Amino acid sequence: MTEAVVAPHGDRPERFLVIVAHPDDAEFGPAATAARWIDAGSVGELVCCTSGEAGGDDAFASPEELSARREEEQQAAAAIVGYRAVHFLHQPDGALENDLPLREQLVRIIRTLQPDAVLTNDPTYLFHSDGYILHTDHRAAGMAAVDATYPAAQNAMAFAHLARAGLAPHKVEALYLFWAADPDTWVDATGYEDRKVAALLAHASQMREPAAMDERVRGRLAQEGVRIGTRAAEAFRLIRRR
Ligand SMILES: [Zn+2]
Repeated sequence: MTEAVVAPHGDRPERFLVIVAHPDDAEFGPAATAARWIDAGSVGELVCCTSGEAGGDDAFASPEELSARREEEQQAAAAIVGYRAVHFLHQPDGALENDLPLREQLVRIIRTLQPDAVLTNDPTYLFHSDGYILHTDHRAAGMAAVDATYPAAQNAMAFAHLARAGLAPHKVEALYLFWAADPDTWVDATGYEDRKVAALLAHASQMREPAAMDERVRGRLAQEGVRIGTRAAEAFRLIRRR
């Protein structure tokens, strides 16, 4: 059964924060949406909880060298998308935990930027229909992003030392979950396919088959575009805060 075509999502947050586990997650995620919003005047910043130092096949490789390389790749990708800043939290790749220190780091960034929207991956979608199992770090990053957004960022007594030091509580109005189990929102990505692919290709250390990746990403964008009757789209589950 084909699903009905819905209207493209028209909202654009003035300031938004993308929170992910690894370098390249944001590019596989909402890169076209971020680029589109930034082109239209939004300010976007990116948080990478880890620097991806376990993202390789060589047990003898240096994690320090890989994390340095991947931070450079992420900076290059972020420049292509147009992010104003990338925050590396230097949490351990493969061992990310949604714990209080991580949430405090996120709350500090949320209260500083004061975003209207936070974008992260759906932490509840564990077994994807295509056979993918949501990486433990993606689960932790997504859940930490949710928990930092609500309640911690808007609660003066959560990490009270932050508010006492002048970082006032901030309510994030919207949460956009990408790689969602039940997407309900599609942003038109027409014209942003090349930029998303270019940003992904900046992660050269992770690209074993760039041509296949290029084709897969464009195919996915086109597939989501069907839902809103456009050439390309990115899908989200949108939670509007009351
Ligand atoms: Zn990842």
